[in-house]
Amino acid sequence: MNKSYYTLGIDWEDFSQNLLWKKNNTLIRPDDRIDRQTNILIELLNEADIKATFFVSAALAQYTPALVKRIATYGHEIGLHGYHHVSYKTLTPEQVYREVSEGIKIVSDIISQKIHGFRAPYCSIDYNDNDVLEILADLNFLYDSSMFNRKLICKQSYPGEDIVLNLNNGRKIVELPLATFKAGGVNIPIAGGSYWRVVPGILLREIHKRLSKTGKANNLYMHPYELDPSPLNIHHDLFKESPFRLIKNSIAQFRWNFNRKSFKKNLISMVAKYNFITCYEKAIKIQKS
Ligand SMILES: [Zn+2]
Repeated sequence: MNKSYYTLGIDWEDFSQNLLWKKNNTLIRPDDRIDRQTNILIELLNEADIKATFFVSAALAQYTPALVKRIATYGHEIGLHGYHHVSYKTLTPEQVYREVSEGIKIVSDIISQKIHGFRAPYCSIDYNDNDVLEILADLNFLYDSSMFNRKLICKQSYPGEDIVLNLNNGRKIVELPLATFKAGGVNIPIAGGSYWRVVPGILLREIHKRLSKTGKANNLYMHPYELDPSPLNIHHDLFKESPFRLIKNSIAQFRWNFNRKSFKKNLISMVAKYNFITCYEKAIKIQKS
């Protein structure tokens, strides 16, 4: 296998919809920002001539079926990012089953295609979640791409590389973990998202130059809102804000918008430099290797 195969997995979700769900369990209709963000992303991927994997949030897809179909017509893979944006660490196996199976139905009905790949909201699956991985295998997912070791100090950056996991029920599932890089006892999460806004560009490029030669889990991630030209808005009309909450939200607003322009720059540099395939194509290679 070519050691420099990268994947780009987009957690295709709406910032405001997730924010309101997290805060009030209220599911709102997204505004047109998701169209704008998706169009910018599709154009960038077209220019780079790469195919990505869109892990689609079913909560968003049910309001925007035409946009999901449009993504698929460009040849990008459609995976699933669950139904509601909730950490699976807080759910029982029965609740996980319901979230995932309802999500599959919504998204596969829109694209009239089978879905092969899964990414949990908040990347909330790790090595200890055999029950959840068994549910995914039972629902016929070929691969999961949720594991992301974000701890700075750890003995090993597990799983470290793309692998086939043997589950307790005798089934198998391919795991495509998100990229981390271990140097001098420190584990650096460098897969994308907000990490690309805080790790200096020079260091990021040097790390990926080295990582690309190892063949280990070169899987990247991002969200559509990372490319939005307007700042993200933490303050929402539906919130009744106390003065304390306003201060807290202002700090969050700064954190979410810090150095946002650097993301696009880093993404353009990565897609120009490395070979990208879809997560499905990579999972097939891992399964056969
Ligand atoms: Zn997400």
